[in-house]
Amino acid sequence: MKILTGLTASPGIALGKAFIFKMPDLRYDPSEFAGPETEKKRLEAAFSLSKAELEKIKNTLSGSLGEEYGHIFRAQMTVLEDDDFKREILDKIDEGACRAETALEEIYKMYEELFSEMEEDSYNIQRLADLADICKRVLRNLLGKEEASLSVLPPESVVIAEELFPSDTATMDRKNVRGFVTEKGGLTSHVAILAKSLSLPAAVGTPGVMKQTAKNDAVVLDVRNFEQAHIYINPDGAKQKELEAAQEQYRRKQEALLKMKDLECITRDGLKIVLSANIGSLEDLTVAQGFGAKSSGLFRTEFLFLKGDLPQEEEQYRVYAEAAKKLGGEMLIIRTLDIGGDKEVKALNLPKEANPFLGLRGIRLCFAHEDLFLTQLRALLRAAVHGDIRIMFPMISSVREFRGARALIARAAAELKSRGIAHRPDPPLGVMVETPAAVFLADELAREASFVSMGTNDLTQYILSVDRGNEGISSYYRTFSPAVLRAIGVTAAAAAKNGKWAGVCGELASNPLAIPVLIGLGVKELSVTASAIPSIIAQIRNLDSRRCGEIANKAVSLATEEEIKAYLQEEIREN
Ligand code: PEP
Ligand code: MG
Repeated sequence: MKILTGLTASPGIALGKAFIFKMPDLRYDPSEFAGPETEKKRLEAAFSLSKAELEKIKNTLSGSLGEEYGHIFRAQMTVLEDDDFKREILDKIDEGACRAETALEEIYKMYEELFSEMEEDSYNIQRLADLADICKRVLRNLLGKEEASLSVLPPESVVIAEELFPSDTATMDRKNVRGFVTEKGGLTSHVAILAKSLSLPAAVGTPGVMKQTAKNDAVVLDVRNFEQAHIYINPDGAKQKELEAAQEQYRRKQEALLKMKDLECITRDGLKIVLSANIGSLEDLTVAQGFGAKSSGLFRTEFLFLKGDLPQEEEQYRVYAEAAKKLGGEMLIIRTLDIGGDKEVKALNLPKEANPFLGLRGIRLCFAHEDLFLTQLRALLRAAVHGDIRIMFPMISSVREFRGARALIARAAAELKSRGIAHRPDPPLGVMVETPAAVFLADELAREASFVSMGTNDLTQYILSVDRGNEGISSYYRTFSPAVLRAIGVTAAAAAKNGKWAGVCGELASNPLAIPVLIGLGVKELSVTASAIPSIIAQIRNLDSRRCGEIANKAVSLATEEEIKAYLQEEIREN
């Protein structure tokens, strides 16, 4: 038995078998040429194998993620079935007397150049992304390497990986995955957030896990502790039994808490707190409603773009409208695209940046790709007639940016009006406060916006200058730092002064230790990870808002995070 420790990304206990997720090495020696006939046969075989793989993924995904995702692979299948495309590669083998791999890559490069001369619209971007994907698949099959994909997993898989990105997990086989452990990744990296929304136990920042684990090893992931996760590899009989019992106990505790899910979220002295769920898809919303969610304070729409294609206006409209209807007129805050940072949209083929979290991210990327942004805004305005949709902009660092986004809303509304399409031209517009600049400008932003919501995951990263995805410096990522808490207080006060409400939609809002302080600082809405809803309702119903004010005052007056946490822990124990 081996025991490793990692950072807690998403709570729970998972028992299963190791599935090692590793990118294959696609390098080859171009001088190894087996003769034109053999190379052509190799190419034919690689095409057939690629087709069979795609067919299998398509069937699995249509079943597990819904029929609409099957179409992503249909486009790629068309490339494989295009005889002209294959003929070009076969001719290249003859022409260049080269390996099938070389011929394939040269033909791809030719198309890449062709596309670079075409207009950069989302249709062309998508076609090139499909071609790149399919060429990579054929190349891998030519080299006889196994696919690294999470879309088809053996039953009871615990995924072990060096690092996972949202684009890897977006198409993950949800039926068969039990949890995951990664060597890299910080606590509020987006895979950690995705794991939470799926209620999947997960650990990140687990050094040595790739070396210490082999395919099909028995793995138990114990993530009950907020501070640390334990990973047992091939546990002995006694440990296995103990953990099975612990899993059963954990399950029963969660079941008992679930009874709280429909109670009103109100403090003992009558202060109502709006408790909403963070979601990234319609499936997430269904899960969240199962945990009692009545509204959503953060719909991360970029997750819709990570599954492999760029959803167009109609598809986006359908998803947003469906979400609004599912919430039956309750609040649905939809955040516009927050691509960049650790959220890569492969189809956009964006250049790599040295500092992606400080780069072309969130609203900046939307301004740079106005077409993409306007398509989303039109879909949102159309969907807004079906419920209480509010639109929120990410990564705002100036009033000018907010006004620029608002102007584009007006433009999207004008376009819809001229086409005679039903829409709501003026839904409430909110600002995400997640940069220090937005905190300093909270007064001005709250004056112009309908609400503000604090993204404490980024706010912590930018206030403390610590990369949220870098496990190596996770000890510097301190969300309970007095600097962060004071920023929250300043923002909530600025919102109140302008007669607007302030919410928190970062992970801090799901942490029981933070709840009394946030309420005491004047936060009126908490948008949390769905599975935390029942326990937060139970906690808030036991709080007194005046006492929360005292707790908040004391907490922000302390000088260090250690003191603040120790104080809050003591307060919680006494309650
Ligand atoms: C945040 O930054 O706190 C937030 C809610 O947005 P995201 O985690 O998607 O960056
Ligand atoms: Mg953010």
